[in-house]
Amino acid sequence: MPPRLPFLVFCLLQPCLSRISILQAQLTVCRSIQDLQKTVQKDEDQQLVELKSVCPNLIYDLRYASKNNFVRQNMYPARTRTTYLRKQPALALKRVQEELQSSGLGIKIWDAYRPYGVTVAFWELIGDERYVANPAKGSGHNRGIAVDLTLIQTNDGTELDMGTGFDHFSDTAHHQFRALPVHILNNRALLRTIMEKHGFKAYEEEWWHYSWPDSIRYEILDIPFAKLKKQRS
Ligand SMILES: [Zn+2]
Repeated sequence: MPPRLPFLVFCLLQPCLSRISILQAQLTVCRSIQDLQKTVQKDEDQQLVELKSVCPNLIYDLRYASKNNFVRQNMYPARTRTTYLRKQPALALKRVQEELQSSGLGIKIWDAYRPYGVTVAFWELIGDERYVANPAKGSGHNRGIAVDLTLIQTNDGTELDMGTGFDHFSDTAHHQFRALPVHILNNRALLRTIMEKHGFKAYEEEWWHYSWPDSIRYEILDIPFAKLKKQRS
């Protein structure tokens, strides 16, 4: 079911958008591969790892590289076919995938690293923290430590029923929403249990969003996917 984003909300919030540039100035944003590599030389956990390079059986359905998303626009370049997380969450995701395999299950990734410029673009479109991250704060996706995912059956790629799709902004997507069939509650609990077992934190308002702790350790990044694809760290 697609989320509904009232145009009226967008109009009412337009006057706030001019404040973004002021607020952005307070954030440190890493914008170059060279600066990222310097950080990685001091701390290898800062490395951005292409997820299939450690976890080849992942399925990608990168919604923001298509129009199949809640803003109905390509927010990433259309040829974006890869995505990234910092080293520790990437390795943790590999462990999650390995553990799922014995049950005939796997992971489908909807989003992971998101360049900061895309968060700004979302804000300019929507301007409402109920739906998108406020660029004044940045997000776990900008830091390369958050991932949006669901579980699939590996034999045919069918998604497990989680009660809502991706980016469904309503109470129904909250972990605390219990008025759902038992098999859906069990599927959400399965995802949450295995992600938390391997170190991720759940986000109570979106069953699909998980992030790595200690976000403050990781800088906000605004490096395009094309540049990351060329890096060899
Ligand atoms: Zn997310």
